[in-house]
Amino acid sequence: MINHMWRVGDITITRLVEVQATMPGGPDGPLPDATPDKVMKMRWLYPAFADALGLLKMSVHALLIQTPDKRIVVDTCIGNGKERTSDHFNRLNTSFLADLESLGWTRDSIDGVLCTHLHIDHVGWNTMWDGSRWVPTFPKAKYYMGRVEYEFWSRELRGEDVTPGKTAETLAWMDTRATFEDSVQPVIDAKLVELVEVDAQIAPGIRLMHTPGHTPGHVSVVIESGGSRAVITGDMLHHPCQLAAHNWASGFDTDSQESTRTRQSFCEEFADTQTLIIGTHWAGPTAGRVVRDEGGYRLEL
Ligand SMILES: [Zn+2]
Repeated sequence: MINHMWRVGDITITRLVEVQATMPGGPDGPLPDATPDKVMKMRWLYPAFADALGLLKMSVHALLIQTPDKRIVVDTCIGNGKERTSDHFNRLNTSFLADLESLGWTRDSIDGVLCTHLHIDHVGWNTMWDGSRWVPTFPKAKYYMGRVEYEFWSRELRGEDVTPGKTAETLAWMDTRATFEDSVQPVIDAKLVELVEVDAQIAPGIRLMHTPGHTPGHVSVVIESGGSRAVITGDMLHHPCQLAAHNWASGFDTDSQESTRTRQSFCEEFADTQTLIIGTHWAGPTAGRVVRDEGGYRLEL
């Protein structure tokens, strides 16, 4: 589904959806505190970001940044054919790659792949199955991954206790090892990965912003051109409801206190500015501006 494009100076950002779903908050969903009764009280979420039952509308999509001379894919979703524990992710067979190519974004034409972090739903299309093994989907691209993020997951896979308080069940659900082996290691082996710092400049007008808490090395992406600015959130903000309730951490945040602080400072910095905030898992219109509202914040479309 290709139905949103934003312009920031001479840069465009296009949303390419892999899957969309309506999910409950609460204990069985991505945001345990976002129970239907609380969500239904946030009337500004309607109709774009929540349904009549108080369920959260969510999306997994890539954001395609076209600068005057570079094509960069931010986050590569879940991918096809990957064996995963969760039914949401297991052995997908979507038209994502064909949809990308229908935009003229052929696999060979992509200059860069940028991963906000290395979770299962952000690295999937880094690779594809060629019939015998996982190979880089974009053979001419440089894959930008955060050095802090990469080192964190490397420690995790060596068995160090890097996520105290997280149950083995949660980590298993995230398929950390399988994700690393089929979607990260093959691009490292192909020497396509450049490990970058949390505030790296990726290309003219595109830089990273450290937004830790969901993972220690998590970054958001700042796009600036012609006096305009946009920020791609990554999973610092899974859903716009977290603008109003910063402490509604995801069950998958490695440090929910830190992610809460990150959301607070992010809102303070960007509220009531013209900066366009583009959500990595925000469904519907996917983007808007943060405004102050009754002592908190909300999204204005
Ligand atoms: Zn995610």
